[in-house]
Amino acid sequence: MSHVRKVYGDKVAVNDFNLDVEKGEFICFIGTSGSGKTTTMRMINRMNVPSSGEIKINGMDVMKMDPVKLRRQIGYVIQNIGLLPHMTIKDNILLVPKMLKWDQKKMDDRAVEMIKMAELPEEFLDRYPSELSGGQQQRIGVVRALAADQELILMDEPFGALDPITRDSLQDLVKDLQQRLGKTFIFVTHDMDEALKLSTRIVVMSHGDQVQVDTPENILRHPANKFVADLIGEERLIQARPTITTVGQISKKAISIQNNANLREALSLMHQMRVDTLLVTDSKGILRGYVDLEMINDQYNKKERVEDVMNKQAFFVRKDSVISDTVDRILKRGYRNVPVVDTNGVLTGIVTRASLVDMVYDALWSGGDNEESSDKEVSSDVGETSAHHDAAHPKNREVTQNE
Ligand code: ADP
Ligand code: MG
Repeated sequence: MSHVRKVYGDKVAVNDFNLDVEKGEFICFIGTSGSGKTTTMRMINRMNVPSSGEIKINGMDVMKMDPVKLRRQIGYVIQNIGLLPHMTIKDNILLVPKMLKWDQKKMDDRAVEMIKMAELPEEFLDRYPSELSGGQQQRIGVVRALAADQELILMDEPFGALDPITRDSLQDLVKDLQQRLGKTFIFVTHDMDEALKLSTRIVVMSHGDQVQVDTPENILRHPANKFVADLIGEERLIQARPTITTVGQISKKAISIQNNANLREALSLMHQMRVDTLLVTDSKGILRGYVDLEMINDQYNKKERVEDVMNKQAFFVRKDSVISDTVDRILKRGYRNVPVVDTNGVLTGIVTRASLVDMVYDALWSGGDNEESSDKEVSSDVGETSAHHDAAHPKNREVTQNE
């Protein structure tokens, strides 16, 4: 495609679009609504006529080809068009081959081949769409797009309205079929994760302009501008949302003592639980600080009660705070354990450094949902039991039992 432009009246829908696509490529158009993705795609099969510029397929100018023949050479799947309910699965799959007047034997073979590709049983061919689950129907929809064996397939947000799990398995199916069959795909999406997963190259569009055309790796590593960066960030953040974990979900039981307990009781509890630090609460369970073996040893003959020797500063996190928002700050401070409190300041448990490190690795492998929040101001989800910051913290101490 070179210098392709489309205007509606004085509205520029697509402005100077340029792209050379190799056979077997998987191209995704991504961009906000109204950026010209659909218009560009529809110019390829002449459902929209370019105002200027040139589109060639295998060296042939599409404007010089018979439009009906052209469209038969190109598969086209529009948004959320399901199966036809009054037709069997087989007839649904063979919709386009029938239009192309394939002979019956070839069509029968093709139907079997396609249902296998959808990884569904052959007997489904004689059933009606309503007898299949939603996900199965969608798989038929995908293979139907490939049934006529066209070299070029256009898909306009085919999975736009599906739940994430169904979408994920259909993306796998499309990608697998595309690689096995060597077809060329042009695929419109507004979901960056979908684009990153499927594409050999991504075309980022905004207001009719091509903002960036590059491989998924390069788009991720070198977004051309803030628009592309936002598209990566925002979409990936949305994707990460369903898997959010709170501090409370990974916290463990804390070993604590009341502030009015005497030092002998504290020592005995440490010994019994095999820890060298205890969290200290008041009679209402509210976190007041911590006490360690050293503090007790120093003061054993001079002071009587825990509250007389304890350190009143303890770094803590809120139970309902999101791990990805707090993990960086916790890890940076180097604590082995951090107390967890509820909204009233009541001690509810402890998070261990080990469990946080696990979380970070999970986040990195699944796309890094903790990156976005690392620069934020310290929120009220994280705090200390006192305003002073000069005191020592229960760094590298055991305040919970070893497993
Ligand atoms: P996208 O698919 O990226 O959401 P479209 O290609 O559908 O965007 O639309 C691009 C722009 O062209 C939009 O501003 C849209 O309003 C305009 N547009 C699309 N089709 C028509 C039409 N038939 N008449 C007038 N304007 C149109
Ligand atoms: Mg569109």
